[in-house]
Amino acid sequence: MEANIRLELRQQNEDDSVYDPASKSLALALEKEFRKQCESIEILWGPINPPSKKFVREIQLQAIDKLVTLDIGKWLSKNQPRRIMETEMQATLPASPQAVARARWLRFDSEADNVELKSPFDPSPNKYPPACKTCGWGDFAQVPEPFRVSAALTKLKNKELSRCENGVFVVSSKVLSVLKDLSADDLIIRRVQITGRKTFADDWHAVRPKNALRSYGGLRGDGPVCSKCDLPARLVPRDSSYGFFKDFGSPACNLALVDEHPYTYKDSDWDHGTAKPHDIVISGGLFAALYNAGVKGLAWPEAISCFSAKPDQPTLEPTQRFVERFPGPTNKILKHKVKSS
Ligand SMILES: [Zn+2]
Repeated sequence: MEANIRLELRQQNEDDSVYDPASKSLALALEKEFRKQCESIEILWGPINPPSKKFVREIQLQAIDKLVTLDIGKWLSKNQPRRIMETEMQATLPASPQAVARARWLRFDSEADNVELKSPFDPSPNKYPPACKTCGWGDFAQVPEPFRVSAALTKLKNKELSRCENGVFVVSSKVLSVLKDLSADDLIIRRVQITGRKTFADDWHAVRPKNALRSYGGLRGDGPVCSKCDLPARLVPRDSSYGFFKDFGSPACNLALVDEHPYTYKDSDWDHGTAKPHDIVISGGLFAALYNAGVKGLAWPEAISCFSAKPDQPTLEPTQRFVERFPGPTNKILKHKVKSS
């Protein structure tokens, strides 16, 4: 089996808790269309209390071929009644230790807070030069030297990495040495300085991937488009995220940005100068190397959710990258106990 697909159906332009009876006919038609390509299709009916089959909340499919997800996306765009939308369609595989270690790509995150900002709504102390003088869109590839963080860095207890804005991670020297050892070509590295201090935080380093993978849906433009650079006022993730990439990129790459640009949320006053969330992906082998080195604060992925739209790019590779460095019991990741949620 290549993918578990979860598809949530809701009514357009209404409160999130409202479902539409038309979801029922849509779900039944979808089941008929894709029955042969799926190992199982389960329809979750609503309302739950009292139990009834008035509408469909969710459809769960187990597909033999991951690409069924994209076929369903195309089918939905043709057959979906206007007032029904899918709030989320996500393909995943369970994040068992064996699967995580062999995953081509995983979402990379930290258990720590973002140390760049003093508080989540504070502006970033880092400024990016404009890539476009007309609209002021930043050149986010120009990571500042030094990279400035808040004093929250001094309070990071038992965590060796923090995910900051714009695809930058602030990492300990141990994390940096593993990254440099195994994926030096993927990194932009900067010194770290706590705002208001004269010296550098020598035990910490800022890293940002050089390369970006293009996600299948990509980002959606919002607001007026600049006449000079063609970029919209804001970039936001699409409502539906299939977890698919157009291409997994160079086989040698082990750390990458998801899409070229960071995004901003639609429903906020944040502009180009402040919030710049940007997802990062890491190869399972590099993640395993960090895990095996005992790095603290690595977030175990909730699921494996990076798939390629190219049939010849497997979600899980035949062997764990860099496994030769971790003979026998030193490949500790395989003993990881996944917490059940
Ligand atoms: Zn512009």
